[in-house]
Amino acid sequence: MLKNDQLDQWDRENFFHPSTHLAQHARGETATRVIKTASGVHIEDRDGTKLLDAFAGLYCVNVGYGRQEIAEAIADQARELAYYHSYVGHGTEASITLSKMILDRAPSNMSKVYFGLGGSDANETNVKLIWYYNNILGRPEKKKIISRWRGYHGSGLVTGSLTGLELFHKKFDLPLTQVVHTEAPYYFRRDNLDQSEAEFVAHCVTELEALIEREGADTIAAFIGEPVLGTGGIVPPPECYWAAIQGVLRKHDILLVADEVVTGFGRLGSMFGSEHYGLESDIITIAKGLTSAYAPLSGSIVSEKVWKVLEQGTDENGAIGHGWTYSAHPIGAAAGVANLKLIDDLNLIENAGKVGAYLKQSMKDALSAHANVGDVRGEGMLCAVEFVKDKDSRTFFDSADKIGPQVSAALLAQDKVIARAMPQGDILGFAPPFCLSREEADTVVAATLRAVTAVL
Ligand code: PLP
Repeated sequence: MLKNDQLDQWDRENFFHPSTHLAQHARGETATRVIKTASGVHIEDRDGTKLLDAFAGLYCVNVGYGRQEIAEAIADQARELAYYHSYVGHGTEASITLSKMILDRAPSNMSKVYFGLGGSDANETNVKLIWYYNNILGRPEKKKIISRWRGYHGSGLVTGSLTGLELFHKKFDLPLTQVVHTEAPYYFRRDNLDQSEAEFVAHCVTELEALIEREGADTIAAFIGEPVLGTGGIVPPPECYWAAIQGVLRKHDILLVADEVVTGFGRLGSMFGSEHYGLESDIITIAKGLTSAYAPLSGSIVSEKVWKVLEQGTDENGAIGHGWTYSAHPIGAAAGVANLKLIDDLNLIENAGKVGAYLKQSMKDALSAHANVGDVRGEGMLCAVEFVKDKDSRTFFDSADKIGPQVSAALLAQDKVIARAMPQGDILGFAPPFCLSREEADTVVAATLRAVTAVL
């Protein structure tokens, strides 16, 4: 086994870490924890330190770590056929089977799935398909995509633009001009504290209508949103938000893309967020939970309405000019098939709903009375705690105070529990694997209370 010093040196000299302060890391001001193994909800580093991962990696290891059924499916697939492409006239049993399993689970208006590798490339595919769709329909001006501030849709050029977080735009010359942003359904951060939830939803609708009016409905192709805002702060929408938004989109013939990279395959306690919130989506993005991150795989599920136009397009223009070498990679597909079976066999979606509700309630019971806890919220196996400087006046901390990172560091140091300091605001996020038990949820809550008390 390599010595820790050696790995540390190679890491600093060679490895370009994503979403990292590069200079600090190179100077040795931050360290890399090298993860070696994992089982259930726990990961273990190469020094033998065991941590309870209450964020499931990057909310992706939904079935939990160390699932031998998935590991074996991957190994069997690699031995039999590690790779073949899915371009014209070719496919593999695993990828065709997985497409059927996805459509069996997807909302009934969905028609086909296009496979990619990660959430970003799937959303990139979506934008291309939407542009193609409107070109085929003879409306080449209808191309802009509306996204929400605080939405997260990836880190590419278009997807980084769709992402409504400044960190992902700054110094990258984003967003691109084809992307416009509207208000997030973030009731806790509303400007007008006197507004009821219904009034706040009406305000979001007015903002959206005003944006469409300003830009011109004939220039707007689609609206993209996560059923529950994830990276932007784990924010479930107020009731009636989605129904109201969908009403506006229908009126202006604007497609709805539900980015279900986090919510797809059970995180909300329902198979899809679209189903959870009664959305009739035109395209659904899937990734993380599709394979529980045992292998990289994503997908764009397109509705029959979109599919018909894509078909027409190929009749008029020939084969569609969009494909990745690794579209429908058989190893990813084998992992997906085994993962979806496991979710069914172990009733993991039901567990996500029940234990998720228990986690949120326990977190509320333990933390709501704390002077600096402004909000405890969640849906399914997603939960967040938002800190405030002053509760009565709802005064927020300065982001330079770094309360979220401080609390997550204390949680890790004191009790070896991983939660995520969300990139904006003072929010601690939880998104455990679906197999979390009530006892493990109790451990997470008790540890969080200790960490909050230590910092605030
Ligand atoms: N969409 C959502 C909602 C996400 O949360 C993420 C990643 O966290 C992405 C897209 C991008 O996925 P990836 O990091 O696999 O490119």
